[in-house]
Amino acid sequence: MEKRDYYEVLGVDKNASQDEIKSAFRKLAKKYHPDLNKDDPKTAEEKFKEAQEAYAVLSDEDKRRQYDQFGHAAFANGQAGAGGFGGFDASGFDFGDIFDNIFGGAGFGFGSNSSERTRASRGADQLMRIKLSFEEAVFGTKKDIRVDVVDTCDDCHGNGGFDEKTCDNCHGSGTITSEQHTLFGSFLSKTTCPYCNGKGKTYKRVCDTCHGKGRIKSTKTLEVTIPSGVDTGDRLRLAGKGNAGSNGGANGDLYLEFQVGEHEFFVRDHDDIYIEVPLTITEAILGCKKEVPTLSGNIKLTIPAGTDYEDKQRIKGKGINNASTRHKGDLYYIMKIVTPKKLSREQKHLFEKLEETKLEDPEITKFNRFTEKNQ
Ligand SMILES: [Zn+2]
Ligand SMILES: [Zn+2]
Repeated sequence: MEKRDYYEVLGVDKNASQDEIKSAFRKLAKKYHPDLNKDDPKTAEEKFKEAQEAYAVLSDEDKRRQYDQFGHAAFANGQAGAGGFGGFDASGFDFGDIFDNIFGGAGFGFGSNSSERTRASRGADQLMRIKLSFEEAVFGTKKDIRVDVVDTCDDCHGNGGFDEKTCDNCHGSGTITSEQHTLFGSFLSKTTCPYCNGKGKTYKRVCDTCHGKGRIKSTKTLEVTIPSGVDTGDRLRLAGKGNAGSNGGANGDLYLEFQVGEHEFFVRDHDDIYIEVPLTITEAILGCKKEVPTLSGNIKLTIPAGTDYEDKQRIKGKGINNASTRHKGDLYYIMKIVTPKKLSREQKHLFEKLEETKLEDPEITKFNRFTEKNQ
């Protein structure tokens, strides 16, 4: 099934404010929450999850910007080294505040499985764009990268508090059974205990650093080794360097997407490198030996006599040495003949003498014959 646009899912405008997004999601959550919608729980659950995912992205300024720029692809499979990245994962997102608002702090379980809230969930993957210079991309580099991620709180080791004790509210079961009276009669309903969020345990002292969440936003500096040969749009996956999981779940992955700058002379096509070599008229006509640059130092190139505009010389294996594919590109020299714009009196004289000698070439003769007949 085609994934729907997040703005469409929430029924808001592309320029919607955070308040509008929040209120749109709240309305949908009320309508489709599986615990509230008993008519068609299956469809309701799907709609609910769809809205949840859309909200998780659009309520986060960073993720929203990525989504605006790349669409669903921002959280989808990358080109290089990606794996297990099937769409945006909303499971690591903290909906606590908004649900407390909707349900008056009653702490609802998700769906029929009331223990789902305490289930270990993997942290969200994160995508970051990195600018590299031409040389950094060609040769590879080590880079210190600053990332903002949701991390496990060091102070409480992710517990959210200190001095564990059995939850007084649910007596350690993690769920609360209450009798509900409806038009169809009374029945018992199980919900997740709001005091311990289904853990069955609480802490005597709440952690001040993370305010009991066990997770905090932090900025980390990672030293990343970027292999030689990466190109614009390539992605590097750093396993486990994304957002921290919750309830003991694994960390998400961090993806770096590269944007490679241009070089003044070298032009890149995948692993091949092209460079234009400007020649004077006499160098092209008479031939010469000319010092030219490669990616690593200079070499002497033999320009044969009678070299023409855009003649090519290929040096095999002297392009980019791509560490990821183990492929070695080629280096191409493209000849460019530069007509002199200013001549000294002597030079002009010499060219005039040359012209008197009637320079002939089969190509020119053929063209002139055609012109004569064309009258
Ligand atoms: Zn409890
Ligand atoms: Zn803490």
